[in-house]
Amino acid sequence: MFSDRDSARADVFVGGRWRAGSAGEFDVLDPATGAVVSRVSDGSEADGTAAVDAAAAAFPRWAATAPRERSELLRRTFELMLRDRERLAALISAENGKALADARAEITYAAEFFRWFSEEAVRTAGGFGAGPAGGTRTVVTHKPVGVAALVTPWNFPAAMATRKLAPALAAGCTTVLKPASETPLTTLALTRLLVEAGLPAGVVNVVPTKRSGPLVSAWLADPRVRKISFTGSTEVGRVLLRQAADRVVNASMELGGNAPFVITADADLDLAVEAAMVAKFRGGGQACTAANRFYVHAAVAADFADRFGAAVEKLTVGPAADGHDIGPLISARAVTEVGALVDQAISRGAVVSHQAPVPEAGGFYYPPTVLVDVPADADVVRNEIFGPVAPLVTWTDEETLLRMVNDTEMGLAAYVVAGDLGRALRLAERIDAGMVGINRGLVSDPSAPFGGMKQSGLGREGARAGLEEFLETQYFTVDWRD
Ligand code: NAD
Repeated sequence: MFSDRDSARADVFVGGRWRAGSAGEFDVLDPATGAVVSRVSDGSEADGTAAVDAAAAAFPRWAATAPRERSELLRRTFELMLRDRERLAALISAENGKALADARAEITYAAEFFRWFSEEAVRTAGGFGAGPAGGTRTVVTHKPVGVAALVTPWNFPAAMATRKLAPALAAGCTTVLKPASETPLTTLALTRLLVEAGLPAGVVNVVPTKRSGPLVSAWLADPRVRKISFTGSTEVGRVLLRQAADRVVNASMELGGNAPFVITADADLDLAVEAAMVAKFRGGGQACTAANRFYVHAAVAADFADRFGAAVEKLTVGPAADGHDIGPLISARAVTEVGALVDQAISRGAVVSHQAPVPEAGGFYYPPTVLVDVPADADVVRNEIFGPVAPLVTWTDEETLLRMVNDTEMGLAAYVVAGDLGRALRLAERIDAGMVGINRGLVSDPSAPFGGMKQSGLGREGARAGLEEFLETQYFTVDWRD
């Protein structure tokens, strides 16, 4: 058992107190072994309602605190996360399975949201102007939206929580948070750090649960909840948007991706391989921004496949604790789903050109795999893989390339590697994706507006925009005659 908590039975955090969940307990598994890491309280809808009670009670006071006070809480939490980086990274690896290097990078990235929004919290932006017809003045100001429900996925257990918590708190919102049931431990550890940093009671409330649907539905039906910020699959996002519609709840949605990775004929192939390794294999390919389909110009396709394949074959796969590059997938089901996509591609003529070995026994492993000769309409190209598989498709003319790249309902991330930067920028502009990495394989940055177009989501996280998601705009019109 992984012991990070005072008690295995008091994991529901409501109104500044830890208490047992009223729906019992559930297991958190180590995906590297399938063994139970810990048992966690299972929160019920009643726990969810108690969390909203606490958040609603704390809201007026928190909304009225000085921005500097909120800022300093966030800054202290940033520092505490860095102090505890190793412990938190080990916790992520234990419940999510990701390599320790990836888990450490996630903690740094996650902590940066607290630093960034501690800085944004004190930069209030408003406006003052004269009415065009004269005789009036307009004052524009902002208010926190209110109680915010935050729902996060398992693939970045720390960063997806801090990317919501930090702006919500900076804005003056109070929150009810439901972590993914696969990975609640990291969120519980972060909550303890917020408490250590001085979090007032009721400002953040956390309800781990196996009963996600009923719990989140109850939140969306509660008139005190004014905001839903969700990160997860498009499928679940759609369900929550429908529920949010009933009360016109303000919604931010960070949903699925299907990122194209484009390589032009004049690309620096060493750089292309370096960027491709990051874009594809960070977190074992289980990132919404993961490169999902590679479009390689025919003139360099064989060369790129050889170099990329050689790098893939060198990847070591195994438990994070042993220092491997890649960990297991999150579940046995994920292994089956990735396998089905690869099998379908092979049945359509694709060939496995390179693969890294996986441990023979235990754990939910899928081998890092390069597929060549992949038909452009294979399932592995059209669906989010969420695993360490890189399908390579070749292209020759730019118009056909752009048609293939944009022929998807997803539009989160994209990547372009090209020798001529001007051409890369022109290509990037024609790709319908919220974020484009140019000559690099990483788009995530707390100071940049993270988010998707089309069915990849609504709204942005990070940057100034991330704070605005938790603010309402209000204006006063003032009589201004002599
Ligand atoms: P998921 O949609 O299954 O779960 C996300 C969260 O929703 C979890 O907390 C889960 O417990 C909860 N949930 C599940 N069913 C629910 C329901 N009916 N009602 C309310 N809540 C429910 O997604 P996942 O498998 O945890 O994460 C993988 C997906 O998340 C991928 O599609 C990935 O692309 C996406 N993702 C997107 C971003 C982004 O920023 N756009 C970031 C990370 C992950």
